Amino acid sequence: MFLGAHESIAGGIYKSVLRAKEDGCEALQIFVKNANRWIGAPLANEFKEKFIIEAKNFGTNQICGHSTYLINLASIDEEIYNKSIECYKNELTICDALQIPFYIIHPGSFRNSTLRSGITKVGQSIEMVYERNDYKVMTLLETTAGQGCSIGCRLEHLSEIIYTNPFEKKLGICLDTCHMYASGYDIVNNYEAIIEEVLINFKEKCKVIHINDTKIKCGARKDRHERIMEGVLGKDFFTKLVNDERLSDTLGILETEKDPVVSYKRQLSILKSLRNFQ
Ligand SMILES: [Zn+2]
Repeated sequence: MFLGAHESIAGGIYKSVLRAKEDGCEALQIFVKNANRWIGAPLANEFKEKFIIEAKNFGTNQICGHSTYLINLASIDEEIYNKSIECYKNELTICDALQIPFYIIHPGSFRNSTLRSGITKVGQSIEMVYERNDYKVMTLLETTAGQGCSIGCRLEHLSEIIYTNPFEKKLGICLDTCHMYASGYDIVNNYEAIIEEVLINFKEKCKVIHINDTKIKCGARKDRHERIMEGVLGKDFFTKLVNDERLSDTLGILETEKDPVVSYKRQLSILKSLRNFQ
């Protein structure tokens, strides 16, 4: 597994790669634009070129984008839905311009509707967007904590969206260790069975794993990230994960709170120190 973190793009998108190198990352996740805006400022050419150079040097295939949290491809509110589609297209376009191979999105919320129609709507939205534009970037659907009406708290939700889609080849998944535990997958006690289920269903589609600890109980359906080794997932779990050869091509991304001054350096070196210590 390539180990890394979500880094800031403040001051120019290429600076995220410099931060990643400084922290000792082997993988990098970024927001491809301001994460609180539907439409960001256009990407400056100068920054784009600098990013591509830095990314090649880092390893372009070890970089992924994460969508803004505003997007809801299952929304039944017409205004929110239309903005979500525009924002999704905009961010996929930026990923292609930056040659980023993977883009992670939360499947969405079916509020005021049903899970069934929510899943259908997400699938149709992805199909419509990829049908109209030949994007290179893959969309990875992320497992969610199961809070409220969120889609994606069961692996079955993701398989249904992916395997009924004509653009299946452009779709993959991103696991989140905190979200999975929160939604009831006991990855601490049933690691083997759960990873088997993931690999049988998704094979090489599992491109990214968000490595987050958590203090909540398994099945509590709350999204609370904790720093590595400060929650309940424990050293054994992280050791199994970082040494799992079946996941050797996967990007492992920290989305925990940074430490003051040293940013992700300390947490990354903990994860790296678990390698080959099974
Ligand atoms: Zn996410």
